[in-house]
Amino acid sequence: MLEKKSSKIKSQAKIFSFAEKDFRWVCSEIKELFFDLMFPVFCQSCFKYGEVICEECFDSLFFGEPREMSFNELLNVERLFCLSSMENKILARLIHLFKYQYVEDIGKKIGKRAGSLLKESLKKRRIEPRSVVLVPVPIHDGKKRFRGYNQCEVLVEAMASRGDFETGIDWLVKIKKTPAQMSLTRKQRLGNLKDSFRLGFHEPDRDKLIILVDDVVTTGATLSECALVLRKAGYKRIWGWVVAG
Ligand SMILES: [Zn+2]
Repeated sequence: MLEKKSSKIKSQAKIFSFAEKDFRWVCSEIKELFFDLMFPVFCQSCFKYGEVICEECFDSLFFGEPREMSFNELLNVERLFCLSSMENKILARLIHLFKYQYVEDIGKKIGKRAGSLLKESLKKRRIEPRSVVLVPVPIHDGKKRFRGYNQCEVLVEAMASRGDFETGIDWLVKIKKTPAQMSLTRKQRLGNLKDSFRLGFHEPDRDKLIILVDDVVTTGATLSECALVLRKAGYKRIWGWVVAG
């Protein structure tokens, strides 16, 4: 009798937990539908409904091949590759949404593309992805807490998901809060960044190809300063991989 009762309770609990799960699922669907109706998402380029950037428009944002570029203040970086240009207004808008409007998914999407492009590029140069470490340009802790993420880390993690790349998320640390580089003169920029970064965790293999990842390059001063820290630590091969120049 007792056994019968306990199995009845058990089956009632099962029904209840199923119903509860079902109810939660329905609620989340309603919530999504509500947000979709209230805040519909349109492609930033062709205004097609559905995504912030549709697949066709996303493809057209990038150069066919990553372009090797040089910048005035890029001193310690051996080679720098850019995937697109800030003159592309749609890309500039997406980067703005990613950095300042907390639309992290855009960064993940761009990062995946950046990872595929890097993989192809290394293959052409016969460089093993395993000999590479992707290091994001760091931002100050306070800024990271405010934004919720470092945009370059988001890019690096998405890039790594597209290849067998090692990531060096904490290899560089930003120790000084600095005003935005773009607002300064050349002299101020160099002084502004001096001693802003230090080495964090790193591995002893100094023959690895370090690829510094940044969202935007304007003069190259930030990348150069990051590379200087790595050079001082004994790394000899340092490249830059940047979304837009
Ligand atoms: Zn579109």
